[in-house]
Amino acid sequence: MNFAANVLLVEDNPGDARLIQEMMAADNHFRLWRKADRLSSGLDCLAEGDIGMVLLDLSLPDSLGMETFRKVFAQAPQLPIIVLTGNDDEMLALSAVKTGAQDYLVKSQVDSQLLQRAMRYAMERKEAENALRASEERYALAAAGANDGLWDWQLQEQRIYFSPRWKAMLGLADGDVGAKPDDWLLRIHPDDLPAVREHLARCLQGRDHHLETEYRIRHADGSYRWMLSRGIAIHDSHGIALRLAGSQSDIHERKTAAEQLLHDALHDSLTGLPNRALLLERLQRAMDRAQRSPESIFAVLFIDLDRFKNVNDSLGHEAGDKFLIECARRLALCCRPADTLARLGGDEFILLLEDISGEADAIRVAERVQVLFGDAFTIFDHELYMSGSIGVALSSPRYTLPEELLRDADTAMYKAKTLGKACYSVFDAPMHAKAMAHLRMESDMRRAFEREAFFLEYQPVIAMPSGRITGFEALLRWTHDERGAIAPADFIPLAEETGLIVPLGRWVLFEACRQLRAWQKLATDDGRITMSVNLSSRQFTEKDLVANINSILRETGLAPASLKLEITESIVMADIDAASRKLRQLTETGVQISMDDFGTGYSSLAYLHRFPVNTLKVDQSFIRNMMRSPQAVEIVRVILNLAQALKMDVVAEGTETADEVRLLQAMACPYAQGNYFYRPLSMLAAAAALRQGRIAH
Ligand code: C2E
Ligand code: MG
Ligand code: MG
Repeated sequence: MNFAANVLLVEDNPGDARLIQEMMAADNHFRLWRKADRLSSGLDCLAEGDIGMVLLDLSLPDSLGMETFRKVFAQAPQLPIIVLTGNDDEMLALSAVKTGAQDYLVKSQVDSQLLQRAMRYAMERKEAENALRASEERYALAAAGANDGLWDWQLQEQRIYFSPRWKAMLGLADGDVGAKPDDWLLRIHPDDLPAVREHLARCLQGRDHHLETEYRIRHADGSYRWMLSRGIAIHDSHGIALRLAGSQSDIHERKTAAEQLLHDALHDSLTGLPNRALLLERLQRAMDRAQRSPESIFAVLFIDLDRFKNVNDSLGHEAGDKFLIECARRLALCCRPADTLARLGGDEFILLLEDISGEADAIRVAERVQVLFGDAFTIFDHELYMSGSIGVALSSPRYTLPEELLRDADTAMYKAKTLGKACYSVFDAPMHAKAMAHLRMESDMRRAFEREAFFLEYQPVIAMPSGRITGFEALLRWTHDERGAIAPADFIPLAEETGLIVPLGRWVLFEACRQLRAWQKLATDDGRITMSVNLSSRQFTEKDLVANINSILRETGLAPASLKLEITESIVMADIDAASRKLRQLTETGVQISMDDFGTGYSSLAYLHRFPVNTLKVDQSFIRNMMRSPQAVEIVRVILNLAQALKMDVVAEGTETADEVRLLQAMACPYAQGNYFYRPLSMLAAAAALRQGRIAH
């Protein structure tokens, strides 16, 4: 106390009042601020404020006994009150102390020292009391505000206090919970209880300073909710825990949101089945298990629906979705609890069969899938029939990655597709060898591309009957490090499949254009020479094709009319509308179009007039057959007439003999290409042929 407290003295006896006043004067911690000789005026003084302490005589003219105290205390509960009494009233004074007075003094016994000490203690006690109350209020407010429940576990008695909020969090009323630890612990989910007990034990043994444990606990409605309890233990001097107290927070939303996120990350949203990520994890686990116990065999069934695209295209995506959900349901019927059914996306499903006794089991399941698919599907009142192609791959120590198993099941599935619809096929050694060869080829091809091991040859196209070179066809060549020259027919389909054809094809285009432009600059050519470049299906359907060709022409400086793109019939017939749009865009840039291998495709004659084609290249099989088959001659004649009617040029491909050339000339075939004239030539040989040709003319 570093300032003097203002004292209110309520005393009707003037003698006593004076005495007390004098005793107080010696202590500069207190100052007599107000005097009152009635309760009413005392209360008025209190109302004015500024009072720090009350000395109160209980017997006043307007109030007697406890009544006096109660009224003062009611008005100023925060002030220390010392009761003054006569000899005969000690009992009364004591009950005042019990009700909130700080102390009492018997007037006849009081001296200055006693008074001062009593006043000081009263002051300090009251301050401590006030501080404690404030802190308790603060704590209660904080606890209520934090929305947490509180618990307080007296370990000696094994009793536990739960706050009303703690109970309310679990939908429980006050009387619904006892005061025993089991009233808490036995509500906890059996799966979570061992961890909670372990946390409690660590905390009680002093191994952990704080308790922090998450668990599911049963709500009054029977459901389980996620809660977090935090607490702290109080130990005695021997380290024995006396008390463990803490809070419980509801973390259900956060926990379930996190669980939902995890679930979504590992499941397909349409069917709810495990997705690729989860499947790979399960596959990895199965592989680990098989490694530990080699007798445990598992299989992967790769199921691809046949013609699912038709459902989407004809009935719409909503029907497609319903259909996939129904497929998932039927497939689930083929699973045992240990198996995994996953959806890879699109119409691809995977069945991972665990712990089978061998291939026969996997085949049985594949057959069961076919049977279940055999029943009609009813989707939005439509009856649909569907089948699936199934590839089976069995576990083997040679697999090190789950992806390898999936890849082989996929390969087997493709094999099944080639066998017809609703077939299955088991991945076997020849398939493996072929797949390995493909893989090796693919990686060799990528390396060759990076190392620029590809090059071009140029086969001249000849005008008849003059024999003059009118153009070249650029033909891609690859000399493999170990295997030597590999024919385009052997690597282009693979490049197409793996997508490498896109960068590779772009390189061919660029190189062919650059070469022709170089010859033009050397004036080796008469300015009318064209360069033909083959386009594969994937290149042709590529979105950027037109832009790429434009930029290649710009970069090389080649006139668009000097470039001819060779496309096969089957490419345009795959999607007639899209192809004719693409062809139109291409011809708008000024380049020319050749229809390669003409006559081998199907029903193209009916569509030919719709395509802006400049040249038909008669397939070499017809040229070859001409000498033995009059029909082949007739076919070539029809193509020549057709081309004339449609104002197209014709090139006879693969002419090998003088007889073939004579026959073609007799039919007025304007152009030819083939070994009879020139084989595909290296760049230098092609340039030499060009120069010679000019000299000859
Ligand atoms: P294609 O476009 O029909 O090319 C003509 C093929 O016939 C070439 O085979 C050529 O060497 C061959 N040939 C030419 N004259 C004769 C002959 O008198 N007798 C015989 N028996 N054959 C002859 P090549 O170079 O093996 O190419 C095969 C196919 O590979 C090409 O057929 C073409 O479709 C494709 N191709 C070649 N280079 C490329 C390319 O750069 N890109 C794309 N996408 N495909 C290419
Ligand atoms: Mg060609
Ligand atoms: Mg051809």
